[in-house]
Amino acid sequence: MWQILKNRIKQGYRTSRYPKEEPVFPSRFRGKPVLRNIEMNASLENNFQKEKDATGSISWGNTPSVDMGKLLFNEDLKEALPSGSFEYSNDYRMAVSRREDLILQGDELKLASALNCKMKKILGHSLRLREVSAGSCGGCDAEVQALGNVVFDLSRFGIGFVASPRHADGLLVTGPVTKNMKLALKKTYEALPDPKIVIAVGACAASGGPFMGGPEVSNGVDSIIPVDLYVPGCPPHPLTILDGLLRLLGRLG
Ligand code: SF4
Repeated sequence: MWQILKNRIKQGYRTSRYPKEEPVFPSRFRGKPVLRNIEMNASLENNFQKEKDATGSISWGNTPSVDMGKLLFNEDLKEALPSGSFEYSNDYRMAVSRREDLILQGDELKLASALNCKMKKILGHSLRLREVSAGSCGGCDAEVQALGNVVFDLSRFGIGFVASPRHADGLLVTGPVTKNMKLALKKTYEALPDPKIVIAVGACAASGGPFMGGPEVSNGVDSIIPVDLYVPGCPPHPLTILDGLLRLLGRLG
């Protein structure tokens, strides 16, 4: 007994102080991408190694843009673009309300806005979610599960997961929605009482991610049911998911 208490005291307080304090990430963390000092010219586009951008996340217009809904957050794009023009920042805040807001030009990102007053009144204090893994590789699900551990402690915000959609206020969906999961996702959505929300977690859920264009997938959740919150990443960090949820519930400025 004394040993258990001693160990517990030694461990100290492990829960992240987010959102009261800004979290600190290791240098290898890949947060919001930053495109800088890219002068558009034909040779840049022609010399771009398309095979390094497997999901086609870079678009070429007057200014190049990166679609975070397709981005796999790996190192390949850094190698495909001129040195120093594509970097990952340590900004974990990336969740948005509309799919088009995931398209990033330069540094500007329109983060998720809060639900309307009526929805906030109903869901703002306590949110129960049903998770649906619609063909994910398991990476996003692991990060969602991590939200329940002692570090992130999702329940301190009144947010939790339930087993039945009939007891849930919203769906949290991972994966590109495979053909086999399409009907299950629709039925689960229909089983939710109104009002309801849908959260798409990860590149797969936003666009199909690495499975995009495959004959067995639907290229994202919003091709099947409406989405209220997109959380980019492959997979997203738990704090990116948590930040998006709190923004949606109007708990962050
Ligand atoms: S977004 Fe990446 S980590 Fe998440 S399910 Fe798809 S492949 Fe896996």
